[in-house]
Amino acid sequence: MGSISREKPHAVCIPIPAQGHINAMMQLAKLLHLHGFHITFIHSEFNYNRILKSRGPSSLEGLPDFRFETIPDGLPPSDENIPQDVKEVCQSTQEHCDIPFRDLVVKLNDVSSEVPPVTCIISDIVTKFTLPTSKEFNIPNIFFCSLSACGFWGFFNYQQLMDRGLVPFKSEDDLTNGYLNKEVDWIPGFKNMRIRDIPSFIRTTDPQDFWFKFLKDETQSAMNATAIIFNTFEDLEKEVLETMSPVLPPIYSVGPLSLMLKEMPTSPLESAGSNLWKENPGCIEWLEGKMPGSVVYVNFGSIAVMSNKQLVEFAWGLANSGHDFMWVIRSDLVKGESGVLPKEFLNEICGESGRGFLASWCPQEKVLLHPSVGGFLTHCGWNSTMESICAGVPMICWPFFADQQTNCHYACTVWGNGMEIENNVKRDEVEGMIRELMEGEKGKEMKKRALEWKRLAASASKQDGSSLTNLKKVIDEVLIPAK
Ligand code: UDP
Repeated sequence: MGSISREKPHAVCIPIPAQGHINAMMQLAKLLHLHGFHITFIHSEFNYNRILKSRGPSSLEGLPDFRFETIPDGLPPSDENIPQDVKEVCQSTQEHCDIPFRDLVVKLNDVSSEVPPVTCIISDIVTKFTLPTSKEFNIPNIFFCSLSACGFWGFFNYQQLMDRGLVPFKSEDDLTNGYLNKEVDWIPGFKNMRIRDIPSFIRTTDPQDFWFKFLKDETQSAMNATAIIFNTFEDLEKEVLETMSPVLPPIYSVGPLSLMLKEMPTSPLESAGSNLWKENPGCIEWLEGKMPGSVVYVNFGSIAVMSNKQLVEFAWGLANSGHDFMWVIRSDLVKGESGVLPKEFLNEICGESGRGFLASWCPQEKVLLHPSVGGFLTHCGWNSTMESICAGVPMICWPFFADQQTNCHYACTVWGNGMEIENNVKRDEVEGMIRELMEGEKGKEMKKRALEWKRLAASASKQDGSSLTNLKKVIDEVLIPAK
C-alpha cells in the first residue's frame, strides 16, 4: 500500500460520467499513479453509488494515494439500477458541475487537507466546465481525449462545416437523398471523407441541436487546455495527429492505455471500480470450450440503442451464419422497451447446448483477448475499437453515433481491419458478413491487417515505443515540469 506524501504531484482526474470515458480515464489515472502521482478520481455521485452496488465497496476503496471523490451531476436523484440518459447527463454536467468541481479543488487544496496540493487537472475532453477553476488557481488543465483523434478532429471541424454551409442539413431529406455521400475533401488530415463519415451529430437541421452544439463547443474549448492527451498511437492516426499538432495546444498520444498498463508492474488498483454494469459470470468459461478463432463476439457498448426489429435481424443473422457467438444485450439496448427475442432463437440457438451465449455485460477486454474469439461485431466506440486492435480481432462495424461513424470509416478504408454493415440491418446481410469475416478471403485479409495493428500497438507501448516516449514527455513537459 502506498502512503500519503505531500510532496507527490497530484492529478485530479475527471471523466464525463459515461462508461467509455470513465474506463479510459481510469486507465490513465492508474498509469499516472504507477508513475508516482497522487490521484483524485472523480465520479458523479450517481455513478459512485452504482459502482458500489454492482462491484461492491472494495472497488472504490482506493489507496492512500489514489482516492475517489464525488460531485453531483445536477440531475434529480434516480434509481441506480436504471442507466442514466447520456444526453441528459452531458447537458446537466455542463450546466451544474462547475461550482461543485471548484469546491472540491478548494477542499483538496485546503491547508488542513491531508493530500498534496493539486498540481494538475486531467479533464475529459467534454468537461470544459473545469477551465474556470484551473484558470482561477493557475493549475495546468490537460484535456484527455478518450475519443479517436480522427473523431475529435471531425468534431473540431464542425464550425468549418457550418461556415461552409454544409451543416446544419437543409432538410430531413438530406438524410436519404445521397447528401450523406457528398465528399468533404478540404479538411486537412482527412482523406476520402464523406459527410456520412464525419461524427454523426451534424445530421440535424437545427443549428441549436444539443449534441451538435455540445461537441462543437467542447472540442473547440480544447484550445484553452494546457495540453491534450489522446488514447491512440502514432502509427494508427499519424496523418490526423500531424495535422492537428500545429493547430492545437501540445498533443501527446499515449495509447493504447490498456497495453501501456500491461507494460508496468501490476497496479495495486487492479480491481478499482469503473464498470457501471455487473458482469455476467461464465463468459470466459464458455469461451474455454471453443475452437481458436471460432467465436463471433457481439457487443454494442454502453450507449447504443436499437429497435426490436434490428435486434431480431441481428439474432437471425447470427443464428443463420452457423458460427458460435457471444452476444451482450444490455438491459437498455432496445429503445423504450426490453428486447424481445424469438422463442426458437432463445431455446434452440442459445439454449443449454446451443451455439450462442447471451449475457447482459461481460469483461470485454478479456473476452476480446481470448483465443476463441475470431471476430467482433461492434458499434465502433473508441474503447471497443482500441481493445479490438490490441487483441488483433477484425471487426464488423455497425456505428451508432458520435465518433463511431468516423472510426468505422477508418477501420474499413484506412486500417483494413473492419467492414461496415448497413444501419438498416437485414438478417441475410448479417449472415453473409459473418461468413465473410470468419471464412472468406476478405476476412483472412482483415485478420492479417488486425494482427499487424496489434503488433504496432504493442510496439508503441514498449520501451522506446512512441506512446511510452510520449507519456514520459507529457509527464516531464506538462504534468511535472521542472521548477
Ligand atoms: N464494456 C465492457 N463490457 C461490456 C460492454 C462494454 O467491459 O459488456 C466496456 C468496453 O470494454 C469499453 C467500454 O465498456 O471499454 C465501452 O466503451 P466504448 O468507447 O467502446 O463505447 P461506448 O460505451 O462509449 O459507446
